[in-house]
Amino acid sequence: MQHPPLNVFSRRRSLVQKKISRWGVDGILLADICNIRYLSGFTGSEGLLLASPEGVRLLVDGRYTAQARREVCGIPVFEFADRLEGVEQAAAKMRLQKIGFEPLHMNVSDHDRLIRRLKNVNLIPLGEELRMLRARKDAAEIVLMKKAAAIAARAASGLAEALRPGWTEREAALYLEMQARQGGAEQMAFETIVASGENGAFPHAQPSCRKIRHGDFVVVDFGVRYQGYCSDETCTFAIGELTRNQKNAYRAVKRAHDEAIAAIGAGAAAAEIDALARRTLGKKYSRYFVHGTGHGVGLEVHEAPRLAPTSKDVLQSGMAVTVEPGLYYPGLWGIRIEDTVVVKKNGCEMITSMSKDLITIE
Ligand code: ZN
Ligand code: ZN
Repeated sequence: MQHPPLNVFSRRRSLVQKKISRWGVDGILLADICNIRYLSGFTGSEGLLLASPEGVRLLVDGRYTAQARREVCGIPVFEFADRLEGVEQAAAKMRLQKIGFEPLHMNVSDHDRLIRRLKNVNLIPLGEELRMLRARKDAAEIVLMKKAAAIAARAASGLAEALRPGWTEREAALYLEMQARQGGAEQMAFETIVASGENGAFPHAQPSCRKIRHGDFVVVDFGVRYQGYCSDETCTFAIGELTRNQKNAYRAVKRAHDEAIAAIGAGAAAAEIDALARRTLGKKYSRYFVHGTGHGVGLEVHEAPRLAPTSKDVLQSGMAVTVEPGLYYPGLWGIRIEDTVVVKKNGCEMITSMSKDLITIE
């Protein structure tokens, strides 16, 4: 399996190691497996990483020792029998006294047990600092995200060509997923959404046995994973002739999507991008737009930053974010149009590539 070049990981580690003292701690304990993969290249599903300005250690259990030693370069791998005992020993060796941790990835029970084990060590939650750890993507990440998006686009174009009225939503999802796997996807990045007709009014509908028919919108929200990196994109297809209301609504969502993308650039407030999408939809439509405008994407399909009314995030170059306005009319239909872009100093660059002009399937 091809990996990002190994020096990518050591560069990421040294960037983080430089920040540790600025965060008011002398080491950090990471349990978020995506953060661990980001800093070490380890692709297992469980482990712990301790980092200080002087050094980094990866701790794994016996299932992963051989794998970690093969995948990780430049940092020692330690095997533990009991994970908290492993932390205790590593923290003592590294002489850590103030350890920052990810509050979203430390449960209350582990926290209590660690406090009892680590006498004379302070545990400090670093929620905001570590939430943003992977938000700005480096060049190696953008390459992988574009590859994931290209595989996804080929699969979705294949679906758009094959799909006919009479298919069930599940058949359409299966077809898309087959195409994605055959095209090189490791797996889907999340459960594919194919929501037709009235099911489209549920933003996170699960594919059902409903047969797709004339007059439907079909919302297809899909993503693939390639070397750990996710794509995220939504197409809404038209089946046969639509009503004038449906066509107008699609145009309104497309306009909101286009305007929001046009406003993205380094320094833009995420909440302002969200507000612009709502303003562009206008009074008539915006109350049917029931979720945030977008989110970061990377090793996880939902990660920092957040493009939503309450977000305090400011966009920075290298952040990969979605823009996904939608309208949801309960009992009738739904529309969502989603692309992923990478923020640039002035503007942004598309990562996803399917056209969002309305595609009609006869
Ligand atoms: Zn999506
Ligand atoms: Zn999304």
